[in-house]
Amino acid sequence: MVDLAGQYRRIKDEIDQAILDTVASTAYIRGPQVAAFEQALADYLGVRHAIGVGNGTDALQLALMALDLEPGDEVIVPAFTFIATAEVVALLGLTPVMADVDADTFNLTADTIEAALTPRTRAIMPVHLFGQSCDMEPILALAEKHGLYVVEDNAQAIGAEYTFSDGTRKKTGTMGHIGCTSFFPSKNLGCYGDGGACFTDDARLAERIRVLANHGMKRRYYHDEIGINSRLDSIQAAILGVKLRYLDQYNAARRRAADRYDALFAERQDIQTPVRHPRSTHVFHQYTLKVPAARRDALLEHLRRKGIGCNVYYPVPLYRQQAFARWFEGQSLPVTEQLTREVISLPMHTELNEEVVEEIAGAVSGFLEG
Ligand SMILES: *Cc1c(COP(=O)(O)O)cnc(C)c1O
Repeated sequence: MVDLAGQYRRIKDEIDQAILDTVASTAYIRGPQVAAFEQALADYLGVRHAIGVGNGTDALQLALMALDLEPGDEVIVPAFTFIATAEVVALLGLTPVMADVDADTFNLTADTIEAALTPRTRAIMPVHLFGQSCDMEPILALAEKHGLYVVEDNAQAIGAEYTFSDGTRKKTGTMGHIGCTSFFPSKNLGCYGDGGACFTDDARLAERIRVLANHGMKRRYYHDEIGINSRLDSIQAAILGVKLRYLDQYNAARRRAADRYDALFAERQDIQTPVRHPRSTHVFHQYTLKVPAARRDALLEHLRRKGIGCNVYYPVPLYRQQAFARWFEGQSLPVTEQLTREVISLPMHTELNEEVVEEIAGAVSGFLEG
């Protein structure tokens, strides 16, 4: 589904040099590469603080830890996302509450969040799924009205931009109290191992996350609270420092491939191509179609037999995952249920050329006609 080798070849010299320099520096943990990348990332996003951490899941966990929530406090998450978003809530002894998503954008909305609110709700975790922003203006207004924290899961949308009704533009991950991202290799900004980051404008929260990510330690070997060990290592930071300079180009390449797919599917009544929200740019972490549920699994099989790497994100609503079996007995959210049956994600990466896109689209259309 992704061509990481092709992407590496184009920037091989810069990347190799960055790695070699870091190895020679021996500053493998908390080296100057990390601070430099954190600053570059904060500047790129237009946010005051960025903190590199071990991976995207840890970023989400640290964000929640920094908010001092109490056991039993409820955190609203979408039922249609990767498990990490809900997993960290459960791990911390908080209570995940699942909300439905919009059938077109696959994202939480203020309405679906409102339907999941209770007097115990303390935080909401909008996920900017597949590369575009949730409609944040009404979500932020709802959060403000009810005094809720907003932790954005930006693992799939780094570089996307949301426009408020007054014309202000903000990058995803910088609108709530804390934003989190993942640098897993296949993400839009991926490193060559595990990595993640938290961002915030709040200096107190930033400091809190830094301390929690380093064993609750401010002064060496004096531990103020129970933390974890979650660091972005210097080699990954050096790689990310190079790749961040290409992020806008990478996202533009993804958008070009998406435009081409859209055009090739435009006449088909049986395919819904990704719906682009008017308030958000789309960075196409995934290019996800909706097709008739009765044919989705056979289409997936057909494409795989042809050597086309495609996948279903996500085949099971989170509340039906075995891991959550005891938590959400009997829960059913209609849009999430429908999406898990209809979605299929096609190959999407920075190295897709026009012929390959045409071949893939031809294979999809050919199957649906047969
Ligand atoms: C990838 C991803 C994560 C987790 O990131 P890791 O770096 O793999 O821990 C969290 N949320 C979403 C929506 C993701 O896509």
